[in-house]
Amino acid sequence: MNSEEILLQRCNAACELCSADAGLAVYEVPPVDQPEVESSIMICNLCRAQINDAASMDANHWRCLNDSMWSSVPAVQVMAWRLLKRLCAESWAQDLLDMLYLDEAHQQWAEAAVDDSSDDHDRQPTLDSNGSALENGDSVTLIKDLVVKGANFTAKRGTTVRNIALTSNPEQIEGRVNGMRIVLLSCFLKRSN
Ligand SMILES: [Zn+2]
Repeated sequence: MNSEEILLQRCNAACELCSADAGLAVYEVPPVDQPEVESSIMICNLCRAQINDAASMDANHWRCLNDSMWSSVPAVQVMAWRLLKRLCAESWAQDLLDMLYLDEAHQQWAEAAVDDSSDDHDRQPTLDSNGSALENGDSVTLIKDLVVKGANFTAKRGTTVRNIALTSNPEQIEGRVNGMRIVLLSCFLKRSN
């Protein structure tokens, strides 16, 4: 049997991620040195298209990971982990990710090729109003009065916010003002240390 036949048998002729039975083909879970059965999964066209183009991801399609992440096949677990990571803006995906336990070697594999497309946000620097890069732990000063929605106060221009935390969105940081942890827009801040 060649590897495709072995995989077809393993997956029982259904996509190992979403269980669809049409358009199945072998997908080598990157990084691939040598294509092997253990590092390959059998997936359908729809899954493949969305894996290759993160922008076309339909979050609802990936609710299938709720089942497939429990697969006994490490390569499937690794792909499930990566896809949930991409979808972590969805609270259900975050919940699944919290439950998905990979052993150490597989965790390393999963993290080895987190694709660029999913991480664009993380890699873009968070810039203050002057275009200086902000880092976790920086102090910033507000450059205008900001009404804090839902908290009923105005954070005054000139207020210093210490020990800020970056978020996955480069336009926002989190910081403590008036004892409350709030989200601030980085364009209204100036780095002060
Ligand atoms: Zn599929």
